[in-house]
Amino acid sequence: MSKEKVSSELSVEEKLRALYNLQKVDSEIDKIKILRGELPLEVRDLEDEIAGLQTRIDKYEIELKDNETAIHNKNIEIDEAKVLIKKYTEQQNNVRNNREFDALSKEVEFQNLEIELCEKKIREFKYRIDELNQLLTNSKNFIEERTADLELKKKELDDITKETQKEESDLFKESEEIAKSIDERLVIAYKRIRSNARNGLSVVTVERDACGGCFNKIPPQRQLEIRMRSKITVCEYCGRILIDKDIDIPIAELEKQLQIEREAAEDTKTKRAKRRSTRTKKDEE
Ligand SMILES: [Zn+2]
Repeated sequence: MSKEKVSSELSVEEKLRALYNLQKVDSEIDKIKILRGELPLEVRDLEDEIAGLQTRIDKYEIELKDNETAIHNKNIEIDEAKVLIKKYTEQQNNVRNNREFDALSKEVEFQNLEIELCEKKIREFKYRIDELNQLLTNSKNFIEERTADLELKKKELDDITKETQKEESDLFKESEEIAKSIDERLVIAYKRIRSNARNGLSVVTVERDACGGCFNKIPPQRQLEIRMRSKITVCEYCGRILIDKDIDIPIAELEKQLQIEREAAEDTKTKRAKRRSTRTKKDEE
């Protein structure tokens, strides 16, 4: 088809042929996509999973640092309490009365309690640190495994893509080129049907008196309409665009062929009739 031809200039037959060609090219692209299969999706999922794991690891590491700082601070508090205890104990040697002595004893007692409390807190922080280290080890192992999986999948995908890249981009260009030659409205309809069809088929041929997409029978009258190519017919069951499987042959030429076929059929009929009549005569004899 010449590129200069604008969609409005296309006859219905040419539009149908263009749609048919568009479908052929798009089906080739589908085949390549099937070859890649779920790989692009798997790669993306793995990348997301790894990113999620990394975020978790970062969070654990921050919490680990916080716990270490907290332990450090509690140790400082303990040291301070010990200094105070030492001071109060020394002061007890120089008291003037029992009341002063008892007051200092209370202070010492209080500081001892403070130390105990700090030690309890430190034990808790240490326990959490152990937990976090375990979580970190697990997450790091997990991320390592996942990264290895990702590398493998990426390589597989790269290999397939390298093999098919040129072919696919050529097909894409061809598809766009054909689509440009057809009315935009028709292309939109084509794409809509295609996205709804599980096998990506929007344009199908009539095969054995049935729709090539859903295999429902097509009445002879409609089949004739399809062969005439004077309007765009869609399957009443699945909505796919129906095309005569001889679409590559121009209608004028096809009509000539049909004429020959009809004449041949007539001939056979006449011959058969003749044979029958001869047979009947023989039987009578
Ligand atoms: Zn159908």
